[in-house]
Amino acid sequence: MRGFTRRAVNSLQSYPRGFDRGVFAIILHMATIKFMKVKGTWREVADAARTTIRQDEGTKEPSSKWKKRILLAEHSPIRKLCFNWKWLDLPYWVSVHFVRHKYGIEHFVSTQRTDRTGVQRDANRQDAPVMHECFANAQAVMFISRRRLCGQASAETRAAWQLVVDAIAEKEPEVAACCVPECVYRGFCPEFKPCGFFGSPAYKKMLEKYREVAVS
Ligand SMILES: [Zn+2]
Repeated sequence: MRGFTRRAVNSLQSYPRGFDRGVFAIILHMATIKFMKVKGTWREVADAARTTIRQDEGTKEPSSKWKKRILLAEHSPIRKLCFNWKWLDLPYWVSVHFVRHKYGIEHFVSTQRTDRTGVQRDANRQDAPVMHECFANAQAVMFISRRRLCGQASAETRAAWQLVVDAIAEKEPEVAACCVPECVYRGFCPEFKPCGFFGSPAYKKMLEKYREVAVS
């Protein structure tokens, strides 16, 4: 299953809007993540937090509990922790969804210009694969999760974002634990047409897990 983790596929199945053969076929041929680099350290985050309370820098790695607390509080020092990744073979139209996000994130997308590639741009399909690199801070990653993990995001975009969250989980599990859809964050789905995930057994499980982050 190229590029797609079991978790990404499961996440699609848990949403009421479904997971049909068409979507499955699309994601089988969809993106992989080339790298996930963490830029900035938790020590730097903690030092910024200490500056705000007129304290000198510390030396130790902050505890997992502290990391979760400041992430959930969404205090500004978390913006010193950044992530850099690249999707390979991301369908162009999915890339277009992601470039709508502009706060705390930068995008670098491979050109489709005719004079650069030798391929007629006009002839490219909407799903022509692009390379899409991002540089984003922890606050942006949590914000984008609220939108792109919602059942109203397109299934392909949601799957591509789940790939990012899964890759982050391997490096910074505390950040990944705070990446939840809007309904888990706010207690309802605020979309014009709610996605239907709210109140489902999977929702209750996810909410419970999210609230545990605060006390674990
Ligand atoms: Zn929703």
